[in-house]
Amino acid sequence: MTVSRRADFPLLVANPELHYLDSAATSQKPKAVLDAMRAYYEHDNANPHRGAYDLSVRATQRYHDARTRVARFIGLADADCLIFTRGTTEALNLVATAWGHANVQAGDEIVVTGLEHHANFVPWQQVARARGAALRVCPLTEDQRVDLDALRGLVGSRTRVVAFSHVSNAVGTVNPVNDIAQIARSVGALVVVDGAQAVPHMRVGFDALDVDFYAFSGHKMCGPMGIGGLAGRRAILETMSPYQFGGDMIEFVRDDYSTWNVLPHKFEAGTPNVADAVGLAAACDYLDGIGMDAVLSHERALVRLLSSRLAEVEGVHVFGPQPEQRSGVVSFTVADIHPHDLATILDKDGVCIRAGHHCAQPLMRRLGVPATARASFYVYSEERDVDALVRAIERARAIFASPQLVE
Ligand code: PMP
Repeated sequence: MTVSRRADFPLLVANPELHYLDSAATSQKPKAVLDAMRAYYEHDNANPHRGAYDLSVRATQRYHDARTRVARFIGLADADCLIFTRGTTEALNLVATAWGHANVQAGDEIVVTGLEHHANFVPWQQVARARGAALRVCPLTEDQRVDLDALRGLVGSRTRVVAFSHVSNAVGTVNPVNDIAQIARSVGALVVVDGAQAVPHMRVGFDALDVDFYAFSGHKMCGPMGIGGLAGRRAILETMSPYQFGGDMIEFVRDDYSTWNVLPHKFEAGTPNVADAVGLAAACDYLDGIGMDAVLSHERALVRLLSSRLAEVEGVHVFGPQPEQRSGVVSFTVADIHPHDLATILDKDGVCIRAGHHCAQPLMRRLGVPATARASFYVYSEERDVDALVRAIERARAIFASPQLVE
């Protein structure tokens, strides 16, 4: 087991008894990120791009530097092709709105997979409905991987978009991005990837992936809430119209028409979120300081440990593929205990897990369950968190087995 970074996270240091196992929902923030944001507000804060005065120039530079830093982290050489957004949801809505509504025609098809988070499902469903296109949902294998043979059969000459997650938030499946992209490319479809659960946990090299768009969220990767990004191919971004209008994104405004600013500003209307961009850049520094390979192997070790411990607990069913094909997520049910009840009982022992449909109702329907319990790890997770979780599950089983609860 590699070293836990718990000591870097003030919230966890202040709560030594807390077992935070909900990092797939949002990560905790290291001191380095909090310090960077505070320093920005204390020393460099002004509205960027507007002022001729030095402070505004400094704020502009900080924002620019943050973009360059984050682009490097995701392996994107052309940093102007990184659009800062509120997060993955906004990034995917940007593509669906600005590209989808303009390019999808009646009779076309959009393909998503049965694993998708609602953020990569509903925007495409709505484009399909608005444009008279069909939404096709690619089936999964028994262990919740994308069924590549089924995908080959599903795509065709009318497929305009193939949108899929790099890593599933609900069951942790790591998808073979380039294999899926190749199938999409064979029919000339746009390739859109939801990387919300990949960028925080593994090395992602956008330029090396054969994809058109890649979305991610800062708050799941040690960064602040309210910032994320969309990486895109310049040739496609250049042809797209803006999807929001206002300050910063224009070149000229006449009474009857306007022209647009260059990338990335064309897609960033209004005052940008500089402090959060600075925080996200600091998060990239922090994660690179650990090394993304070390991050992934730390999580995998904990996933393997928890999976083997859960295999010994009667009535537990774990979803998803083998730990080697999964990120730091363990999604499971315990017989006769609703995941919500389980999460409430676990909370009494300071164990924070997520219970619910994980914003993936189409997947839950395919699994035949209303909800699962999900434990998810990150750089600060430790073996004792696994111990506490398993102990708390045993306690929940004992409570539910007690005669007082049985009629
Ligand atoms: N996709 C996936 C796979 C996710 O896990 C999440 C966050 N739960 C999202 C999209 C949406 O991200 P955000 O809420 O940060 O926009």
